[in-house]
Amino acid sequence: MFSNNLVIGSKWKLIGFVVAFATISLEGLFWLFRHHRPWRSKLVKEVLFFPTDVTCTNHLFQMTHNERPCTCPLLHCDDSPYNRLLKHLLSARKTLDLCVFAFSNQDFARVVLELHRRNVLVRIFTDKDYMKITGSQIGNLRKSGIAVRHEQSACFMHHKFAVVDKKLLITGSLNWTCKAIQCNKENILITEDAEIVQPFIAEFEKLWNESDPMKFFSLTC
Ligand SMILES: [Zn+2]
Repeated sequence: MFSNNLVIGSKWKLIGFVVAFATISLEGLFWLFRHHRPWRSKLVKEVLFFPTDVTCTNHLFQMTHNERPCTCPLLHCDDSPYNRLLKHLLSARKTLDLCVFAFSNQDFARVVLELHRRNVLVRIFTDKDYMKITGSQIGNLRKSGIAVRHEQSACFMHHKFAVVDKKLLITGSLNWTCKAIQCNKENILITEDAEIVQPFIAEFEKLWNESDPMKFFSLTC
């Protein structure tokens, strides 16, 4: 009897040891994945500050058109904040969701039109007053077939962010205007961290759905 109790006790000790070991191992694995994810270093993480020098952007588009190198007098700096920002936007392959307060910069409009030409689904959500100011590119983009919706309330739609392919977020203080690029003190954060990107995707979808023109269309008999 004494011997049987001893065996049963040893078995429970062994089971307890295995459970404790498994628990510690799993927690260790979770910690490892949380803090040392091997793919984390591959995620895009970048901060850009403006104003920046005016640099030529033609080569960004020539890469896709196989044209000759540009010989214009502007500085050809592939690494300027301006060009880096445009390259991130041009990396879109499927979708570009853009939420911007003021949009008058022609290079950004060129990017949007180029993506539209490549069959990237572009959606723009903007401010109803600023979309109509002199120099705004919104009307031209809408005429080119790009989906545009605007804030319906009297408050400003003051966001400035873009989501590329539902995975890359570009956000900050920068409006898509020449003054913001060349004159203002502005910042941009670019990230593929899903914990940051997902709320922006949700915010865009919420704003996009809330501003569906069909909700504001009333039949008059
Ligand atoms: Zn040039």
